[in-house]
Amino acid sequence: MKIVFTLLFGVASLTASPTTYHGYKLLSVKPRTHEEAQIVQHIVSSWLLDQWSWAKTPGAGVDVLVPPRLVHRFRNTLGRRHIPVTIKINDVQTLIEQQVTNHKRSHTLPRKFDHTDYHELDEIYSILDGSVADFPALLSVYSAGETYEGRDIRVVKVSTGGSKPVIWIDCGIHACEWISTATCQYFLDQLTAGYGNDSQVTTLLDSYDFHIMPCTNPDGYVYTWTVDRLWRKNRVPNILCHGVDCNRNFDSDFGGAGSSNNPCSDYYSGESAFSERESQAVRGSIEALPDVRMYFSLHSYAQLWLTSYGYTEQLPANYDEQYRVAGVSVRALEAVHGTKYNYGNIADVIYLAAGSSADWVYDSAKVQYSYGIELRDEGDYGYLLPPEQILPTAEETWAGIIAGINAI
Ligand SMILES: [Zn+2]
Repeated sequence: MKIVFTLLFGVASLTASPTTYHGYKLLSVKPRTHEEAQIVQHIVSSWLLDQWSWAKTPGAGVDVLVPPRLVHRFRNTLGRRHIPVTIKINDVQTLIEQQVTNHKRSHTLPRKFDHTDYHELDEIYSILDGSVADFPALLSVYSAGETYEGRDIRVVKVSTGGSKPVIWIDCGIHACEWISTATCQYFLDQLTAGYGNDSQVTTLLDSYDFHIMPCTNPDGYVYTWTVDRLWRKNRVPNILCHGVDCNRNFDSDFGGAGSSNNPCSDYYSGESAFSERESQAVRGSIEALPDVRMYFSLHSYAQLWLTSYGYTEQLPANYDEQYRVAGVSVRALEAVHGTKYNYGNIADVIYLAAGSSADWVYDSAKVQYSYGIELRDEGDYGYLLPPEQILPTAEETWAGIIAGINAI
């Protein structure tokens, strides 16, 4: 995330000492006109700041991560133009330490799902192994590939037998979006514990197989635990910097709007479409499945239920139908804890983003219902959503997914 730091002190990343964010603030900026929005964009890009959220319309806030040496100047510069700035997170490092440093690892790896805390990759995989051992007739794990650093990209198949139409869910393609990875674990828990006990889950599993990739970007995820909590990309080495944004690496207008050809950018699309092991893993798994009915890719944050397209403002041929089902999902989600979501096509609701998995899945894999979901929150904590919100986030999202499946 910290481009300037990496360029000036590149040696530090070789020794992999943890990246710290002491005094970094998450500031919410509310430009009220198109001109003000352009001023904000200019400052963010010329000062090399990390923008955490986007607004399609003036008046909606955008979240910007500002290092301590620039906080004063940033607020003054915008203050002179009377553009409102408020503090959302006063000290990013404090939140990181609450999540990472305070995560007490037991000496024996857990074997049961636990939604009270975030878990490291080896813990997640250990829990999956435990679940497969407990539910051998229902769960199986297969490898979708291996990362650059040699980690297994796993898919969990939940099936009552035979070959049924498939619901695909992947989580964690962006490493710092921990709530995504945690939510996939909740889904797996619900499916395994619910079959034969919960009528809704039983009906679902009598009709569909689920293929769930709980941690699509294992190298990046491990890096968020060990070095930089805010890392987004995978960890493939480029000439100057590490990492490709795997969700800009699919063959859906590869290299187009919303992606970067700068290897140091958080949105670097990679050398070519499907150059990355992680996007290859998703492609390979989906192409191997004969009948994928719905695709869900979980991200954070913004509370959005998104349909294609991201690479163009044009709409997919069946947009009305995908929009209808998204509406069903969002209403079911909101009914659980009252959380408000917006929904619609990616380019309209959030930003143009070429090379995303959801677009490739719709265009090339011909899956008729393809959704990207931005989970909680709206920037109070952003990527650093507290563990107390794992369970409510997962509960409401699961309700949305079930309602969506039942609506097709
Ligand atoms: Zn994401």
